[in-house]
Amino acid sequence: MAKKNVILLIIDTLMLPFLKKAVDNKMAPAFAFFMKHGTASEIISPFPTMSVNVESSLLTGHYSDVHHVPGLVWFHDEEKRLINYGTNASELLQLGLATSLKDPLYNINHEHLNKKAATIFEELSKKGKNSASINGLLYRGSQEKVMQLPFLLSLLPTFHRSLTVKGPDLLTYGSFIKQNPFAKYGHFWQRFGFNNRFSAQELIYLIKNHSLPPFTMVYFPDMDQIIHKKGVEDLSGIVKTDRELQKVLDSFHSWEEALKNNVWIIMGDNGQAVVRPRNQNPLIHLEKLLSPYRITKLSKGVRKDDDIVLAVNQRMAFVYLLQPNHSLEEIANILKTDARIDVIAWREEEEKIKVVSGRREGMLMFKKGGQWEDPYGNMWTLNGDIEVLDIFTEGSRIKYGEYPDALARLHAAALSHKGQFLMISAYPGFEFKYGSSPVHVGGASHGGLHQHDSLAAIIVSGTERLPKYNRMIDVKDWILSMLDS
Ligand SMILES: [Zn+2]
Repeated sequence: MAKKNVILLIIDTLMLPFLKKAVDNKMAPAFAFFMKHGTASEIISPFPTMSVNVESSLLTGHYSDVHHVPGLVWFHDEEKRLINYGTNASELLQLGLATSLKDPLYNINHEHLNKKAATIFEELSKKGKNSASINGLLYRGSQEKVMQLPFLLSLLPTFHRSLTVKGPDLLTYGSFIKQNPFAKYGHFWQRFGFNNRFSAQELIYLIKNHSLPPFTMVYFPDMDQIIHKKGVEDLSGIVKTDRELQKVLDSFHSWEEALKNNVWIIMGDNGQAVVRPRNQNPLIHLEKLLSPYRITKLSKGVRKDDDIVLAVNQRMAFVYLLQPNHSLEEIANILKTDARIDVIAWREEEEKIKVVSGRREGMLMFKKGGQWEDPYGNMWTLNGDIEVLDIFTEGSRIKYGEYPDALARLHAAALSHKGQFLMISAYPGFEFKYGSSPVHVGGASHGGLHQHDSLAAIIVSGTERLPKYNRMIDVKDWILSMLDS
């Protein structure tokens, strides 16, 4: 049998229960086709459950302790500045547009993503195999590529008209660098091509030109915003995405032919949890809770006597402590008085992690290595109240409840970057708010450790093989092994 190409479609916020509902109601024929000729299940996203962290984990096969992209927003301890890959324009403006735009456009791939953590594109290149990335925010590969920046961006002091980056053999990054010279939907009001139609159009271009490489990754961004606004039950994002998938399938002689020479992996990047309506206290205002402390203002940058920097990732936040006369535990004790805050965790000496909760009594302390084995073959030492993380024991094994792969994901996030910080995750229904961080009252949001944020759908068609475990960090090795054998 000839070797199949692997096509990985990442559909932002694709969740299994709602996908099934759309398919059962005959609203999504393309998804239904892939599911009929394959398997559909759930896969665990890294923590925080934010796209840039997810993509970094997918590409490198590791959590953020290895790949070093902690979240959408985080504090760079050496540079003493907040990194924000783009929650919204007003936040970027406050941070100083020129420097902050360089973070999503260049630094994330070439400075922050650990150079020692090889991406799937880099590994394939070493094996002499070509690959393609279409609209992925993370795309680092081995080939030099030149992006053409739009005129407006080139007016900013840090930028020129073109930007040299390292990508896979075929790289599409919005309309800055693309395959189809006649591509539509790439204007600035169409987010410079970071939309589903542009992504589909670029993939179809490769299919029609018979230039699909062994591995292609395509990112479809649109559903994220639809779910944020309309809530998790809304199926219109699935219907819209399905229309693009139909176009992709139609670009083959027949839909069946699409499966013949290709393995299709169609997956979400994270889930979303409901955010309650305004009259039910959905927003956790961190500056109110932490009012005894001096919190760094975004527009001012870090001042000498600031106590705390906040990096809000929607339903998750990093809380950084800058002064030695306070302790993380003291801040945790304040935060846990709010029952809307779910998991509160931080690193102590010797890579021990402490966990408390605004909802559950007690304290859990854990570290890597020990006698307890989790479902993924990792061993742990546990002291204190395992109920804090909804963990059960069965003989010498542990099982997870509401927080999938909780120990490894928290441990990785705690070691993902330098600094003294707490990681806090909101209970479903709630979201963190500080300054101009975006909120989704009455809609849905993500970032948290809870299963609602953490479980994405995955459909696999064209192969019987599945990843070793149902975690995103297991996808890279699985794809490489399919392309090897
Ligand atoms: Zn989102």
